[in-house]
Order: sequence, then C-alpha cells, then structure tokens
Amino acid sequence: MTFGELYGDGSKPVISFEIFPPKTPEGKSKLMRTLEELAEMRPAFISVTYGAMGTTREGSFEIASRIKSMGVETASHLTCVGSSEAELNGILTDLGERGIENIVALRGDPPAGKQFVAAEGGYGHANELVEHIRRFEKQNGGRFGVAVAGYPEKHVEAESMEKDMENLAQKVRAGADAVITQLFYDNSRYFDFLDMARGAGVQTPIVPGLMPILSSRQVVKITSMCGSSVPPDIMERLERCESKGGDPAGVGVDVCARQAEELLKAGAPGIHFYVLNRASHVKSVLKRLGL
Ligand code: FAD
Repeated sequence: MTFGELYGDGSKPVISFEIFPPKTPEGKSKLMRTLEELAEMRPAFISVTYGAMGTTREGSFEIASRIKSMGVETASHLTCVGSSEAELNGILTDLGERGIENIVALRGDPPAGKQFVAAEGGYGHANELVEHIRRFEKQNGGRFGVAVAGYPEKHVEAESMEKDMENLAQKVRAGADAVITQLFYDNSRYFDFLDMARGAGVQTPIVPGLMPILSSRQVVKITSMCGSSVPPDIMERLERCESKGGDPAGVGVDVCARQAEELLKAGAPGIHFYVLNRASHVKSVLKRLGL
C-alpha cells in the first residue's frame, strides 16, 4: 500500500516506525529480532533510513525488502547524496523490482561542518528529487507513495520559518503525498507548524515524528544535531530521575505517550516513531495509548 492509500482512509491513526540499517553484522542480527517484535505491534509501515550513520544504500533496501517479506508495509528513505539522475533511475528501478512502494524523499545531510554539495548530475534539494520520481513514473509506469520531511522548529540551515515553509510547500507541490516531521517534544510547535503549512497551501497529511527519550544525554545530543528543543520541565524530570538512580527511559515513555495522546486527540493522521532500532520503549508507549 502506498502512503496515499495508508493516510487516505483516515479511519484509524497510522502508526509507523523508523529504523536505521546497523553498521555491524551483530547489529544486523539484533535488528532482525527487533523487527519481529516491531512487526507484532502491527504498524502501518516501517521505514528504513538511507545513507545515515555510515551505512550503504544496499543495506537500506535489503532491510526494506525483508520488512516487506514479513508482511509489513515499508518505505525506503532516499536522499540526493552522491547520486546522479542516471543513478537515481537505477535506484528507482531497483526499488520497483523489490516491490517497495513508498519513498521518503530527502536531500540528505552534508558531512559534519560542511555545506551540502549536489552530486555531479544530481540534485541539491528534495523538491527536485520528488520531481524526478514523478518524472520517472511517467516514463516507466507505476506510482510510488512519496513523503517529504517537515521541520516544526525550522530546518537548521533555513534563514527563517517562513522561507522554510515556502520550500516545504514547493516540495509538496512537486508531488509528495505526505509530510513526516522532524522529532519535537513540545506539541505547540507541531500545532503552529500545521496552521502555517495549511496557510501555505500544504494540504497533505502532516505526520508528527516522535522519539521516545532514552536519557538526558541522548536527547541533548540528538536535538542539538537536528535543531529541535526540549522543554525545560522535561529536562528537569529527566535529570531528577537520573540523579536518584532511576531509569530516564521511563520518563521518556511517559513524555512520548502524553505527546502522542494529545496529538491524536487533536486529529493528527498518525504518529511516526523514531524507534532507534529498539522495540521495548515504543511498545510501552503504544500500550499506554491502548493501541
Ligand atoms: P530540503 O527540503 O532540500 O531542505 C534543505 C534546506 O534547503 C532547508 O533549509 C530548506 O528550507 C532549503 N530548501 C529546500 N528546498 C529549496 C530550494 N528549492 N531552493 C533553496 N532552498 C531550499 N537524512 C539522511 O541522510 N537519511 C535519511 O534517511 C533521513 N531521513 C529523514 C527522515 C525524516 C522524517 C526527516 C525529518 C529527516 C531525515 N533525514 C535523513 C535528515 C535530512 O536529510 C536533513 O534534515 C537534511 O538536512 C534536509 O533534508 P530535506 O529533505 O528536508 O531537504
């Protein structure tokens, strides 16, 4: 099923997970066990990141194929990094042959401390990648579900929220079926973003991306890289718990469950959980939500 079909129904929240391909053979066999646990939670789809954490494209597509063979819908992330138009055509053909129906289309990140540079004969922004996918379909048939990234707290490189929103609207106009957001811990950021996006003419589902916090150190590291903020009351709760020798991941589950509950009550189309290749935390969150 494509994103259009998954989000089109609207009868129940679309719960999805995001995983990344591990670097080592041990990590890979551990992920295979985790995938079984994730599949038991019956997500609408599990997406697999691309190129991040030093992994290869083949690793991503192989895992996505594996998910599909487990009877769970999947989505492959695809970035502009390192691929010319001709190489992208090869990748899209490969994805089609593997029966992968959904793509999360992204620009990708530059190496730490550097500016993004488009590959020779390739693209510099996600809107061009979405256009490329839609052009490829016209020439070769088929239709991928395509999602793009949205940033409730602004993309780190964008000069303003307004400019970032114009760019989001442009990539949705290029043919995206859905927007999946960067992780956030303050729901008011999502609600403001949603209003702004609707005002800018973005009518696709805008799916909140949530990541259960594992520890204060981990959340500070991740949010400093992606430009999201952590409300002070959440940091205080984590630090208080850690100083008493408690398990901060328990606080993380509580924070995530509260966020998800409020978002779904307010009509969010679903939740995309960044599960960091672990099943237990998201399982606790879904249990709390009765899902
Ligand atoms: P773009 O939409 O191209 O935006 C990048 C910047 O350029 C923004 O500041 C934007 O405002 C600006 N911009 C956009 N279009 C234009 C234009 N036409 N002209 C001028 N400026 C423009 N990274 C990975 O490497 N692999 C992954 O699998 C991956 N998965 C992700 C999944 C999600 C849901 C999210 C939210 C992020 C993911 N990322 C991944 C990170 C992502 O690659 C980075 O955030 C990257 O820096 C931007 O990607 P983008 O697709 O948003 O880029």
